[in-house]
Amino acid sequence: MQPSISISRLRAALNGRVITPADTGYDHARTVFYGGFDQRRPAAIIRVADPSDVTRVVELAGETGLELAVRSGGHSVAGHSVADGGIVLDLADMKALAIDPERRTAWAEAGLTAGEYTTATAAYGLATGFGDTSSVGIGGITLGGGVGYLVRKYGLTIDNLLAADIVTADGLLRRVDATTHPDLFWALRGGGGNFGVATRFQFRLHEVDTIVGGMLILPATPAIIHSFIAEAEAAPDELSTIANIMPAPPMPFLPKEHHGRLVVMAMLVYAGATKAGERAIAPFRALATPLADMVRPMRYPEIYPPDEEDYHPVAVGRTLFVDSIDRGAAETIVARLQASSAPMAVAQLRVLGGAVARVPVAATAFAHRARRIMVNVAAVYARPDEAALHTAWADDFAQSLHQGDLAGYVNFLGDEGAARVRAAYPGATWERLRAIKARYDPTNLFRLNQNIPPAIGDPQQ
Ligand SMILES: Cc1cc2nc3c(=O)[nH]c(=O)nc-3n(C[C@H](O)[C@H](O)[C@H](O)COP(=O)(O)OP(=O)(O)OC[C@H]3O[C@@H](n4cnc5c(N)ncnc54)[C@H](O)[C@@H]3O)c2cc1C
Repeated sequence: MQPSISISRLRAALNGRVITPADTGYDHARTVFYGGFDQRRPAAIIRVADPSDVTRVVELAGETGLELAVRSGGHSVAGHSVADGGIVLDLADMKALAIDPERRTAWAEAGLTAGEYTTATAAYGLATGFGDTSSVGIGGITLGGGVGYLVRKYGLTIDNLLAADIVTADGLLRRVDATTHPDLFWALRGGGGNFGVATRFQFRLHEVDTIVGGMLILPATPAIIHSFIAEAEAAPDELSTIANIMPAPPMPFLPKEHHGRLVVMAMLVYAGATKAGERAIAPFRALATPLADMVRPMRYPEIYPPDEEDYHPVAVGRTLFVDSIDRGAAETIVARLQASSAPMAVAQLRVLGGAVARVPVAATAFAHRARRIMVNVAAVYARPDEAALHTAWADDFAQSLHQGDLAGYVNFLGDEGAARVRAAYPGATWERLRAIKARYDPTNLFRLNQNIPPAIGDPQQ
C-alpha cells in the first residue's frame, strides 16, 4: 500500500506552511538551485516555522516511511533537497539571527543563506566564513565543512561552529557542543545531513571589516596556472584564493577578443590591513597583464554579488584533492578544458592550508586537513541527452589529475554512489561516523543525502 499523509491534519498540526501539488506555488516550491531535477514531485513541501514543526515532520517521516529531503538553501549538487513522492522539509522560513558583538558569537537559524548572514554580521564589522556564493544555505555548507574566502585565515565554517540545535531521528531537539553530545557534535562537523535536522547554529565571529578582494582575470596558460597556485601557496594566511579556469564569458569589461578564450577568473580575499593586502596581491597581478582587475579594498559582504534568481544550471562535476599543480597538471587542465564540448567547462582550484591545516585531522568529521589543494571540475550543459558525454568528460578529467587517492569533499559530491561517499571520509572517520549514525539514526531515516549507513550488526563495530 502506498504510504499517505493527511494534509489537512498536517496543516492543523504545524505553525509553518504545507505546499502540495494542488497548491499554487508548488512548482516554485519544489525547484532547487540545480536544473535537471524538475521531474521530482514531492507529496508535500513543508516550510517549517520552528523546531516543533521540525519535530513533527521528522515524526511524520518516521511513521509513513516516506523519503525525507532536508533543505536549507537548496544548493545540493546531488539533488538531495527534493524527494520524488516524499516530503521536503524546507527550513527557508527559519531565518532568525541573534548576534552578540561583545562575545563575537551568533546564533543563526538554518534557513539563512551565506549572504544574508554575512550582510547582517557586517553591520558589526564581523564575519564567519562560508563559501563563494551568497545564496548557498548555511545549513548544507556548514554540515559538510565550508570552504570559502576566509578559509586560510579562520579555517572551515565548522572550525567556527560552537554549538548547534538538532532534531534527531527520535524527534528530540538536542543542543550539541564540545561537552554535550560531543560525539554528535564531532559528526555534525563534516558528516552532512546524516544525523538529524539542524535548526540553528552558533558560530564564532571574527573582525573582518574592510578586505582587499575581488576578481582578477588573467590569461590561462599552463605557466600562469602553475605560478598562480605557487603564489597562492606562498601567500600569507590572510589571503584565500579561488582560481576558476574557464572560457571567458562575454562580460562587457573584457576585451571582445578574449570572449570564449580560456582565462583564470580568480577571486581573491585578503582579510587584513589594506596595505598588506595590496602587497600580498601584487605577485598575482605581476603574473601577466591582467585582462581585468577588480581587486580593491571593499567591505567584506561586497565579495558576494547578488545571485541571479532564475539561474538553474544543469551540470556535472567531480571533486578531488591534490597536493600540487605542477606544469604537467596545468597543461592537462588547459587541454581537458579545451577538449570539452560543453557550453561551459571549468576547473576550480582552491589552495587550502593555513588555519584548516592547524586543526588536528581527527578533531572533526572533515578529515582532509593535510590536503593542499581542492580541485573541482565541472561542465554546464543545456541538452539532457548529452549528460553521459559530459559525465565521461568530467570523470576522465578528474582521473587525469588524481594523485594517489580518490578523496573528495562531501559538499561538492554529486550523486556518484557509495564508494565516493566513503572516499569523502578517510581513515578512521568512516567507522566513527557509522557508529554515531547507529546511535542517533539506527533506521537511516536521514538517508536522502551523501549517506553514511548505520553500523548495525556490522561485525566491525
Ligand atoms: C553555486 C554553488 C557554490 C558553492 N560554493 C561552495 C563553496 O564555496 N564552498 C563550499 O564549501 N561549498 C560550496 N558549495 C557546495 C555547498 O556547500 C553544498 O551544495 C551545500 O550542501 C549547500 O547547502 P544548502 O543548504 O544550500 O543545500 P541544500 O540542498 O538545502 O542541502 C544539502 C544537503 O545538506 C543537508 N542539509 C541541509 N540543511 C540541513 C539542515 N538544516 N539540517 C540537516 N541537514 C541539512 C541535507 O542532507 C541536504 O540534502 C557550492 C554549491 C553551489 C551550488
